[in-house]
Amino acid sequence: MQFAEIPGLDDLKKSLVASYKNNHIAHAQLFNSALGGGGLPVAISFATYLLCENKQDQDSCGECANCQKMAKLIHPDVHFIYPKPSASKSSDYDKLQTETLKKWRTFAAEKPYSDINDWVAYNGYENKNVLISREDSRNIIRTVSMKSFEGDFKILIIWYPEFMHPAAANGILKVLEEPPTQTIYLLVSYAYDNLLATIKSRTQIFNVTPFKEEVIKDYLVENKGIDQTTAEKVARLSNGSMGKAIYELEHADKMAYEAFRNWMQMCLKGDYSGLLNVTEDFVRSSKPQQRNQLEFSIALIRDAILSKADNNELVNREGAEGEFIQKFGGFASLPALEKIYMSISECLGHLARNASPRITFMNLSLQCSKFLRS
Ligand SMILES: [Zn+2]
Repeated sequence: MQFAEIPGLDDLKKSLVASYKNNHIAHAQLFNSALGGGGLPVAISFATYLLCENKQDQDSCGECANCQKMAKLIHPDVHFIYPKPSASKSSDYDKLQTETLKKWRTFAAEKPYSDINDWVAYNGYENKNVLISREDSRNIIRTVSMKSFEGDFKILIIWYPEFMHPAAANGILKVLEEPPTQTIYLLVSYAYDNLLATIKSRTQIFNVTPFKEEVIKDYLVENKGIDQTTAEKVARLSNGSMGKAIYELEHADKMAYEAFRNWMQMCLKGDYSGLLNVTEDFVRSSKPQQRNQLEFSIALIRDAILSKADNNELVNREGAEGEFIQKFGGFASLPALEKIYMSISECLGHLARNASPRITFMNLSLQCSKFLRS
């Protein structure tokens, strides 16, 4: 990964490059990143820059052998420490480490804006306690005591130092305090306030601010192949978190659910100016998106009907969706739900025959509102 692949954060990138050029690299640096922010990509890009054999003015070259190894996160002088379940026996540690490292490399290279919950879900660790263990700290101490393989620097990237077990923190503090020469620690934290003061005081702190909405929008259009309107909408809901924006795109159903929920709440309240806005959003989306949204809605209404008829085992919804269906079934009568179901189905037919999306959707919204409020 190179600096150029990360949108924005220009001042931070410049000051890191300048620290190398001026020979002022702090041996322990802490990236205090916003959630879903650029903390990990910046740390990886900086490591790539430091190891690059053909440094450019403001970035690594992206082509030399070291850059190529860094693109796959397999450079032997860059070590990653990240939360994971602890080994049941110390003797199992190396095996666990090898297994998770393989996954980590793919995860960090492909989803560098992720947070700990994404990592937990990625591995199916939901029922496990993840942390940076005492064994990890021993591993760190062992690693820094060895010579670097190829180059000038040995770099340790510690993701989520706030997940350090207190016993691990003590060992790590010691190596932060007395680092062997040419060893650099890059800590990437997302919960700065939860970090031990002793760690903060031993590191140089860089704030990695949330991305600007505009930056996220442009990144999504350029890298995720989506249209301006969708990108704008996703960026607006992302609160400066690239991780969240990408997640939302990859989980369009969830967005469809949120859109559906808002829409139904407006219908229920008879919020006509809100419905006009929703209609305009609908008109701006692409034809396949319009169809998806309505098909998603009709599936939810079907589930609400089933849930109301007490056929809960047929309702395959979990979490917020399941809860909403229960509630929705509670305040909407069965005939109302059936009429809404029919209306959405007719609306899909009209749109397939090229009816005006604005008139069709607004009309549908008014009908739904009438059914829900009668
Ligand atoms: Zn290079």
